[in-house]
Formats: sequence, C-alpha cells, structure tokens
Amino acid sequence: MTPLPAEPSGAPAVGYLEGLNPQQLEAVLAPPGPALVLAGAGSGKTRVIVRRILHLLSGGTPPGAILALTFTNKASGEMKERLAGALGPGAQRAWVSTFHAAGARILRAEFEQAGLPRDFTVMSRGECLTILKREMVRIGVNPERYAPRELLDRVGRLKTGREDSAPGGGFAKSLEAVAAEFAPAYEKSLRAAGGVDFDDLLALPLRLFRGYPEILDRYRERFEEILVDEYQDTNEVQGRLVRLLAGERRRVFAVGDDDQSIYGWRGAEIENIRRFEKDFPGAQIFRLEENYRSSANILASAGAVMARARGRREKRLFTQKPSGEPVVYFGAADPQVEAQIIFQRLEKAGAGEGISWGEVAVFYRTNTQSRPLEEEARRRGVPYQVVKGQRFFDRTEVQDLSAYLRAAARPEDAAAFTRILNRPSRGLGPAKVAAISGGDDLVSQEAARAAVAEGRVSGAAGGALEKLLGLLEELSAKRAGPAVMLEELIGRTGYRSWLSEISRTSTSLERRRSAERGLEGAREYLAAASAFEERLREEEGIMPKDPEAMTRFLEEMALSNEADEMEDEGGKLSLMTLHAAKGLEFRAVAVAGVQDGLLPHSRSIEEPESMEEERRLLYVGMTRAKEHLMLSWAAERPPVGSTGGAGGWTSYPSRFLDSIGEDLIRREDPPEARRRRPQFREGWGKAAPAAGGSGGTGGTGGTGEQKESKIPDQALGPFSPGARVVHPKFGAGLIKSRSGTGDRAVVTVDFERVGTKKLVLKHASLEPEGGGPGGGPGGGVDGGESPKV
Ligand code: ATP
Ligand code: MG
Repeated sequence: MTPLPAEPSGAPAVGYLEGLNPQQLEAVLAPPGPALVLAGAGSGKTRVIVRRILHLLSGGTPPGAILALTFTNKASGEMKERLAGALGPGAQRAWVSTFHAAGARILRAEFEQAGLPRDFTVMSRGECLTILKREMVRIGVNPERYAPRELLDRVGRLKTGREDSAPGGGFAKSLEAVAAEFAPAYEKSLRAAGGVDFDDLLALPLRLFRGYPEILDRYRERFEEILVDEYQDTNEVQGRLVRLLAGERRRVFAVGDDDQSIYGWRGAEIENIRRFEKDFPGAQIFRLEENYRSSANILASAGAVMARARGRREKRLFTQKPSGEPVVYFGAADPQVEAQIIFQRLEKAGAGEGISWGEVAVFYRTNTQSRPLEEEARRRGVPYQVVKGQRFFDRTEVQDLSAYLRAAARPEDAAAFTRILNRPSRGLGPAKVAAISGGDDLVSQEAARAAVAEGRVSGAAGGALEKLLGLLEELSAKRAGPAVMLEELIGRTGYRSWLSEISRTSTSLERRRSAERGLEGAREYLAAASAFEERLREEEGIMPKDPEAMTRFLEEMALSNEADEMEDEGGKLSLMTLHAAKGLEFRAVAVAGVQDGLLPHSRSIEEPESMEEERRLLYVGMTRAKEHLMLSWAAERPPVGSTGGAGGWTSYPSRFLDSIGEDLIRREDPPEARRRRPQFREGWGKAAPAAGGSGGTGGTGGTGEQKESKIPDQALGPFSPGARVVHPKFGAGLIKSRSGTGDRAVVTVDFERVGTKKLVLKHASLEPEGGGPGGGPGGGVDGGESPKV
C-alpha cells in the first residue's frame, strides 16, 4: 500500500519539478498569492503540495516560514520525511502537521494568554465524557434524555462551527439548545482539571488571535506560506484560522476535491472550498485532470456515481491507463457469504501472490461490519490489520498508562490519579474514593495522602494506597523519559501482572481476550514511547529526560488518529471504514455492504445533504483502487446497531449504483440475493409524497413478500419504533409502534411528560431528537463508537 504518492526519497532539490504534467507544473510554479488546486481523486494534489513546498524552499523561503496543514498525522509524517529527504535537517523548522497539532503547539507557546496552565493536557474523548457526565449530574440534565456522547458532539460543534448558526430547532429544548446552555459549565470543569479537548485545539487559538492582535501579528509574520491538503474537509474554525493567519499576504495554497468531502457530520464545511474565490478574491484556480491512480474502468464507474451528485463543482478526469479489469458488483445471501466471496475474488485477482496483501484493502461503512471479514481472514490465514476502529489513545490500557504518566509528572492532576487508583484493583472502589475525598468522585494525591495520615483508609487498601503514593513520588523525583518511566510503571504497579493473571485465569473468554489485548496495547505503547524519544533526540536534540519530552509525548499520543495506526510494512490486508480510507491508495479494493441502509446509511436517507455525503463516501472508497475494484452487498444483514440475533432483514442494492450501466459495472447476484428495492426515496416520512402507500411498494419483480409490514424499521428513517423524537407541545418521547404507510402512517409515542399518544405522522410535526441524522456515522474516526440508530 502506498498511502501517498511515492517520491524518490533523498531526491536532490533540483529534481522537484520532475514527474509532473504541465497542469501540475503550473500549479507548483504558481506566482505568490492565493491558489486553489481543485481536482478529482488521484490527480496528484498531494504530490503537487509536496513539490510546491520544495519549490518555495528552493526559491529562498526559509523552512520556518512554512505552515503545511494535513488531515492526518500519517500524511504530515510522510510529508516531513520527504522534505527531510530532499533538504536534510533544515526541513525540521517547517511546521508540517495536522490542524490540531499546530493548534496545540500554538497553545503551548502562548499558554499564558490562552488562559491555560503551562502543562495543560489534551484530554481524550473518554475523559471529556466523564467530565461532561459529572456536570450533567450536577446540573440535573437527564442522561436518559440527552445522550452524553451526542451532547459532547454538539458542544464541540458549537465551538468549531459557524458562529451565526443559532441553536435550537423550533421546539423548546433541542439538543443544540441544551448544549449551548451546558457548554460553559463543561468548559469550566475541563479547565479546572487543567485540560483542553480536541475542539479547543482549534477554538482556543482562534480566540487567542482575536484577543491578542500582537500575537496574531507574530504568527502572521512568521508564516509566509500556508499550504493545506484536503481543504474540503476543513471546518469553520479551521477555515477562519487559515484566513486569519494568511492576513494581507494571502499566500494560501490549498488543494482539495469537493467530491471527497466526507466529514460534514463532524462539522466540515464543504463551503470552505466552494467559496475559496470569495474568501480570497483574485485567487488562481488550478485544475488537474489526469488521474494516475486508477484503471479506466474504475475511474469511469466512480465518475458515474458522482454524475448524479448535486451542487458540485464540475471536474473532468481522464486516464491514459487501459480499461483494466471490470468493476464487479455482486450480492450475497448474508455477510458471511459476502466475506467469503470477497476473499475468493481478491485471491483470484492475485492477492497474496502477484499482489501483496499489503496492497489490498476492504472498506466498509460501519465498524461492526469488520467482524465477518476478520473471521474470514483468520479462517484463510490471511494476515490482516483492522485499521483501528478505535483510536489508539482511547484504548483502556493506553488511557490507564497515560494516566500513570500524568500522575507521576503532575501530582496535581486529580483526574489522572483517580483513574489509576483502582487499576490494578487495590480495594479502592468508588465508596472508598468518596470516603477519601469527602464526597467528590475525584481524588487528588494530596487528599489521598491526608486520608492515609488521618487513618481514614486503613487495612489492605490503606497499605496499597500508601505504596502507590510512594511510587509516584519516587518516579516523579526521578525525572526519567517516557519509555523508562512506563517500563517501571507497568512493572512496579503490578499492572502487567494484573493483566497476565486475568488472561491466564479468568473464566470469561471475553475478559481473557480483553486482558490479552491490554497486554499487547501496553507493549505497543512502550514501543511508541521509545520511538518517540528517539525521534525527539534526533530531530530536535531534546533528551528523553527533559520534562518537555514527557509533555510532548503525552500530547502526541492524545493527538494520534486512526489512520496513523496503519502499518506500512508486513504485507497485511487492511480492513477499515470508508472514512479512514481518505488519501490512501491500494492495488485491489473491495467495498462491503454497498446497499441501502448502509450506503446510503439509513440515518441519512431523509436528509438530502447527508445523502450527498454518503454518495461522496462511496466515491472516495472507489477511487482508492488502482487495478481491481469490487463492490458487494448482502441480502440479509442485521440492522445497524442491533446485536444481531432476532432474524435479519432484507436489504437491497445501493441506489447509488442505479444509474450505472452494465458496461461499467458487472452485476453478479446469486439468485437468492436478487431483490429489488421498494420505493423508499429521499424525503420519505417527512413530506411522505406517494411513498410506499399507493401500490408502489414492492413494485417490479419483487418477491411478493414486501407488504407494508415488511418494511424494515431502518427504512422508516427517524420515525421508526425505538426512535426518540420531540413534539412541539408534548416534548420528548419514544416511538413505541408504527402502522400504516404514506399519509396514513400512525405512530404511537410514549411521551415523558404526557404519556402515550397516537399521532398521524404527517400532521404531528414530530422531529427526531437532536434533529437530522447527525451524530456521526460511526466511522470510527471519533473513537470508534458504534453508531446509534
Ligand atoms: P486524492 O484525491 O485521493 O487525495 P491526490 O489528488 O492527492 O489523490 P496523489 O495521491 O497525489 O493524488 O496521486 C495519486 C497517484 O498518482 C500517486 O500514486 C502519485 O504518485 C501518482 N502521480 C501523481 N502525479 C503523477 C505524475 N505526473 N506522473 C506519474 N504519477 C503521478
Ligand atoms: Mg491526496
């Protein structure tokens, strides 16, 4: 697999204009001023941005004047490597990083004016949730009614979204309104713990720059050239930061593709790329039209998917490559069979022989879909990696060990100390914690020490607590680097033996497995620490013992994201969500679950904007393939988010492929999978025009079993049984059941305040709780939570 265009490493600076077509060359050589390279997938945008940096450097721009912003740490790492190859150590002075890492760096440098402690921590999502839940309890917001995860998302969107977007959705207490009310308390609590969350890494620098024009001026002066990859997925605050930093010089070089904007659910503003010329009047626009990645067949079929998209910026894309293998779209009876066929076909295409497994990927829409694929890979002995559905940092053991490091480095970090108190178990459960702290659920080391001294914890627990405090004290005096510190912590706290013990003796298979994963995670974490120390020493001359090494290590861990987890070596098949696939390329690609309900996702079917994003997601997946592309769907697939069991439901091929002729995609359905989709279309359930009701259901050549009652809950959108809704008068409630279709659809809703009511859906003005399909696609990027339905 080659995540980014392969550049000859160590190429002399003079070679930076080689291997570019005339359009690319023009972009690389663009005169100073705002420029946008707007071009389709695989046309060399990332290559152009790297070459542009080399060009600027060779023209005399000092490396320290360059700010290059990428979407993943992996992309920035590769960019840095390539620059170092061409330039030597001088390249280190350029800022090449993700937006979040750049934000963190700015806040570290300006902590005082940003109103943060010098050694503030970037909190993980898990920690932020804990803080948020505490505040919910304190303020009296019911977590049953407002899911904490969603509330946290909304608070984040308030920080990074458009400032003029008024909260509310027409009814009293929308999730947005609650989030807006709630945000200050959450913020305060986060700061009290010395922490910032991910969104703060963008929002606080913006606030800083607005509050302190002289600081902004300093950064403006420094960054003469700003380059941004994947501009289509920047959010409002990122767009503002770019505009602010660019100042009057306006030297912004952005590359992107509005057809690949797939993070709208997380607040990305596709408008940033669409209105680039408005933000930067007189901007030069460059188009790249030759695709160097994919065979002609792959490119044409991906293009056909996008041909029906709305409101996009028109792009031409051609290839000189031969047509290549046909793109195949096949159906299977169920996800297990689907996985089998995918592997059979991949092997037939040469995977494992002419094509190393490392150059093959299987994508899917939601994390839960990986299971049958993993099982099949194991059965066949195919080496594979699941490119983390969970961010490394969010894994339990990594969080535990980070908390140990933090507790040793910063005795006042009560959140960290509380987390490790009873891991491994020391008889210090919640009751003991409350006793030590005098009621609070957070304990500081100081409070614990006092409790021991006053004899408030005694016996075995008291002894264990005393030992822990002593160890932390000893380690914090020692001033060792992260790796040495971790090694000691894992050994001396009994953390390792605790997990080994569970993995050997627990009667629960699940616990044994999770302990094994924990041990592996601890090893990986240790390896990451060593690698980090080495890099810091080599690149910046910072020794592991330097306290800065620890701060930076914890920060880097907190900022790592899932695409960073991918191993390049080792020849392993990659399994990952479509969201994680951005920017990558593989010789052979399969996309599983290309079917209504998954792609488009059932949550998006009601929302034209989200539907468009789903279409783009498929486009991103398809355009990762160089030589072989296969798409598949499975007739029986348990509804997203269900725990399986209780009978699957019948699904249908994805509507996104409807318009593509057999000349572009070969359809191969086994007879049992050959099903037509009934007529659920966008907008169904809201205006409900002619949908389902009047004789259309089942339609042409259906199996005859698609009576009204057979409509899968999924397809009913946000008003299906089990869904939470809000009524303007009755407030929040839960849909108990639903009957009838079209204009006659009736729902029975159990309202929290007024009890059960039967309502005609068409007239009821119900809204899905929280509005819209938001909440993230469960793509795993935000920590691999399973999607809510
Ligand atoms: P995406 O939209 O997926 O991010 P991209 O536009 O950034 O794609 P790149 O990843 O830069 O495209 O390039 C796609 C592939 O084409 C890479 O393998 C790259 O090395 C190759 N490539 C780009 N330009 C050329 C060229 N002029 N000659 C040969 N190969 C090229
Ligand atoms: Mg790219």
